[in-house]
Amino acid sequence: MGDAAVALREAAQRLSDISESPRLDAELLMAHGLQIERSELLLKLPELEAPAEFSALVERRQKSEPIAHIIGQKEFWGLDFQVTPDVLIPRPDSEVLIEEAVRICASAPPQRIVDLGTGSGALLLAALHEFPQARGLGMDASAAALQIAHNNADALGLSDRASFVLLDWTEADWTNSLGSGFDLILANPPYVSTSARLSADVAGFEPHKALFAGEDGLDDYKIIIPALEKLLSPTGIALLEIGFDQAEPVSKIAANNGYLVELKQDLGGNDRLLTLRR
Ligand code: GLN
Repeated sequence: MGDAAVALREAAQRLSDISESPRLDAELLMAHGLQIERSELLLKLPELEAPAEFSALVERRQKSEPIAHIIGQKEFWGLDFQVTPDVLIPRPDSEVLIEEAVRICASAPPQRIVDLGTGSGALLLAALHEFPQARGLGMDASAAALQIAHNNADALGLSDRASFVLLDWTEADWTNSLGSGFDLILANPPYVSTSARLSADVAGFEPHKALFAGEDGLDDYKIIIPALEKLLSPTGIALLEIGFDQAEPVSKIAANNGYLVELKQDLGGNDRLLTLRR
């Protein structure tokens, strides 16, 4: 009889102050320490011993370090992504972009996809996984992020259809090096107000450049939306992730630029996605 079950219970207790999912966190850390899948951990729990480094892993989490950073990966759209502090941790909320892309493109799958601010590559690679005939381009202003996106494309067997470009949309004429005629544009840009108070695990550990977008959180939409015209194919669509309270201001920017706009919610019921078409 091992002690893993007891260690898990104690760890979940210790993490209950800082985490909304203390038991799950403890299980993920234990599985990581044992180098097994969580499903295997749960199956064999009664006979397992806690690994020596388990309490050190729990201590890191107690200091609000995200699980994804401690174990170096995060699942998104059922795929495993390498994650470091150089990229935003993929959120389940963002899966609604892929869900909607699959729904909208069911009868006419996209050939060319671009992901603006690709980070870990989560949106681009999930889309390429869903659309096996498509080719995709991921752009990001961070070379370190692009390295992670590259690694993820390799690990997911998608590197023959994915390419990446280092590019900053705050520079003039940035769209020139992307090309045009994209059928599907994906973007989860920074959209948090600089005065927002984020939780310790986000504010203390995730890249601020991928989160904050000026006092109103709209800085990056004001750049991206006017640039879509150059990038989109005539029948192309753009799926933009938005903050829960940004449907109105971002829709307004899109409408002012001549787009028809549709709003969708994430699984938690929050406004999360705007679909733009000509
Ligand atoms: N959804 C993220 C958060 O709430 C923000 C992501 C972003 O700015 N693109 O922390």
